[in-house]
Amino acid sequence: MTLNKYTPADIQGIFSKTPDKDTLVQFLKTQDPDIVEAVRAAAEETLLKYCGNNVYYRGLIEFSNSCALDCAYCGIRRSNTKVVRYTVSEDEIIKASRWCADVHYGSLVLQSGERHDDQFIDFVERVTKKIKQATVSSVLPEGLGVTLCVGEHTLETYNRFRAAGAHRYLLRIETTNEKLFKSIHPTEQNLDSRLQCLDYLKRAGFQVGTGVMIGLPGQTPEMLADDLLFYKKYDFDMFGMGPFIPHMDTPMGRLKVMSDKERTHLGLMMIALTRLLTKDTNVAATTALQALDPVGREKGLSFGANVLMPQLTPTEFRESYLLYENKPCLDEEKEDCLTSLTKKVETVGRVVAQDQWGDSKHFTARTSNS
Ligand code: SAH
Repeated sequence: MTLNKYTPADIQGIFSKTPDKDTLVQFLKTQDPDIVEAVRAAAEETLLKYCGNNVYYRGLIEFSNSCALDCAYCGIRRSNTKVVRYTVSEDEIIKASRWCADVHYGSLVLQSGERHDDQFIDFVERVTKKIKQATVSSVLPEGLGVTLCVGEHTLETYNRFRAAGAHRYLLRIETTNEKLFKSIHPTEQNLDSRLQCLDYLKRAGFQVGTGVMIGLPGQTPEMLADDLLFYKKYDFDMFGMGPFIPHMDTPMGRLKVMSDKERTHLGLMMIALTRLLTKDTNVAATTALQALDPVGREKGLSFGANVLMPQLTPTEFRESYLLYENKPCLDEEKEDCLTSLTKKVETVGRVVAQDQWGDSKHFTARTSNS
């Protein structure tokens, strides 16, 4: 089809059922400002209709940059010997989580490099339990909502993390295109095991989030359209995606990429199309968007995102958790980060939800049907 319909209502009509790949490709390719604005407005209306006005904060603690993997795009890959490796102490993590509860965030994300040794798994399990215990209050009777983002593990490990009290998990697929996946990962990593893990996470009872990097060298609009159809088909609860940003100390650091503006545009369109397709899910406006555009995260909200992840990593470690270059909020104290972010949310007419986990409505719908 050709894109000759411009009103948000027309766009919503197109998305009343899952559009075909060709339609998604055309939306991803279009530069027509009228169509882009109609897509944005339709995504925003869909968000407000299915999820309401709330924006949910998840305090982000990047608790360790030790990593056993060697992803070609990632600044903390194991071969990058320039990185000073760290793990935040349990006490400091608990302290940060108490602060997170005190400022009413409701949830946090524990993210790190990927390790599969027992010591690491025990650490994640223990610290999750402690966070849950340490943050119980009259407004949070079960403590903070805990999301984990610690990579691929066995079903047994995921069951342990779930039993420890974490109830959401983010594992990005990065790209669903097999050839592209191979070109950015070492041979020890593959799409099948990523898919297997996403299935394990559902079986372990997590609310499951995934996402892709946008603007990877060699990635086409057709591939991104397949990614969107994958999001829908596999019925995920949450999405976190953002532009690829080269890191000079990685094998992909000097590859040619689209301009910042083009990658930001594509990132925003991916958010809007994800919202239009999946409707009642949680979609994050990621930090990577802000790295390319100072108002990238606010734009993400106005294109249909409803989750933000303010930095809680102790400032002394942030310099060492550079997945990509030009990462914002490196030296901003968490208090300032909070104030500036809340202002941003208000500028786009949304409200920051307080003392709520802010679960994906999709999860409730998906699990009550089965
Ligand atoms: N190790 C954990 C989480 C840390 S990385 C895991 O594998 O789940 C979190 C995400 O950052 C990755 O999934 C990837 O999508 C993103 N990322 C890594 N390097 C990036 C880069 N150079 N540009 C943009 N995003 C990047």
